[in-house]
Amino acid sequence: MALIVHKYGGTSVGNVERIKNVARRLAKWHRAGHQLVVVVSAMSGETNRLIALAKEIQASPDPRELDVVASTGEQVTIGLLAMALKELGLKAKSYTGWQVHVLTDSAFTKARIIEIDEKKIRADLAEGTIVVVAGFQGADEFGNVTTLGRGGSDTSAVALAAALKADECLIYTDVDGVYTTDPRIVPEARRLSTITFEEMLEMASLGSKVLQIRSVEFAGKYKVKLRVLSSLTDADMPLEEEARSGTLITYEEDKLMEKAVISGIAFTRDEAKITLTRVPDRPGIAYQILGAIADANIDVDMIVQNISVDGMTDFSFTVQRSEYAKAMEVLNTKVKDHIGAERIIGDPKICKVSVVGIGMRSHVGIASQMFRALAEEGINIQMITTSEIKISVVIDDKYLELAVRVLHKAFGLDQAPA
Ligand code: ASP
Ligand code: MG
Repeated sequence: MALIVHKYGGTSVGNVERIKNVARRLAKWHRAGHQLVVVVSAMSGETNRLIALAKEIQASPDPRELDVVASTGEQVTIGLLAMALKELGLKAKSYTGWQVHVLTDSAFTKARIIEIDEKKIRADLAEGTIVVVAGFQGADEFGNVTTLGRGGSDTSAVALAAALKADECLIYTDVDGVYTTDPRIVPEARRLSTITFEEMLEMASLGSKVLQIRSVEFAGKYKVKLRVLSSLTDADMPLEEEARSGTLITYEEDKLMEKAVISGIAFTRDEAKITLTRVPDRPGIAYQILGAIADANIDVDMIVQNISVDGMTDFSFTVQRSEYAKAMEVLNTKVKDHIGAERIIGDPKICKVSVVGIGMRSHVGIASQMFRALAEEGINIQMITTSEIKISVVIDDKYLELAVRVLHKAFGLDQAPA
């Protein structure tokens, strides 16, 4: 007998038929003798609908009240799933986040989980009850309802698995695992049977939407055994087969690892680049530029500063495209004259493409292989950043799909590793 956390995303509980299907799948796991905690999202599209309603009343909705509204989608699905389980003759109980004491900080719309009191859940499990918990939500120390940021149910599931020291956390979703890249761009993309936490973290922060970044951080920190798999398979498929399907997020030491140098190609479309030209090269300049940007609550991604010529340098950085206009305004009104920059040049039509793989640590020449593949297609690289296990480049966004395709091929990702 194992204690297992299942998580079902919005598509997986998108209508009544699918909810019944989830119940059948859970019944199968229950029959095999496992203790089950299930975390669900709102029905697909529901959270968007709720946020849109709020925006019809307030252009930027009051965060506390927005969380009250946005968290309701999950309350519907927990109740419906518990009913579907009861219809199958199983014992089930639904709980909102605050009922099982998912304690968070008070950062409305992006709260962080501090602690989960798992006593109530354990008592139910001991009686053979399937515990259904609403994802995405919690409450702060004052009892205010909070939500964990879009896609936050993944984090709820992993946090519960950590708190309960579950044997495994299964994230059921509408794709059958983690792919080498987005199959909509590269049809030859392959499902990875394993990927390391570090790689998954890079993939998630670099644009892969399979898991919320925070859930991967959490799983890595608390060593939660995490698997991403499809909820759209036949609910009655043999359990042993299902338990091995999808992608296992694993540790580097594990023997199961595929032996590829590069595991995947990630990308983000919605980026913008800003350059300040002929900035005096003296201490405090980077701080004055990026300090003003940070004060406006804008996240900066890549940063590049040129070597200085005649005491002047160029300074470039990237931001999310949605924050581009705001960033340009801050620079033009608060920074440019102040620091004596010559010009501010913006380009909101760039994207970032990254190759990710822990094999980079032990292989040389990955960067040159990447740059050659892009050069052969005449794709100009505008910025480069690297970490131990990834190389990212900024390019013109009209080359995004081409770049992803050629890199996927150049690193042999369309072929199963030997
Ligand atoms: N329902 C929330 C959202 O759409 C949380 C989740 O699905 O994970 O972002
Ligand atoms: Mg999701």
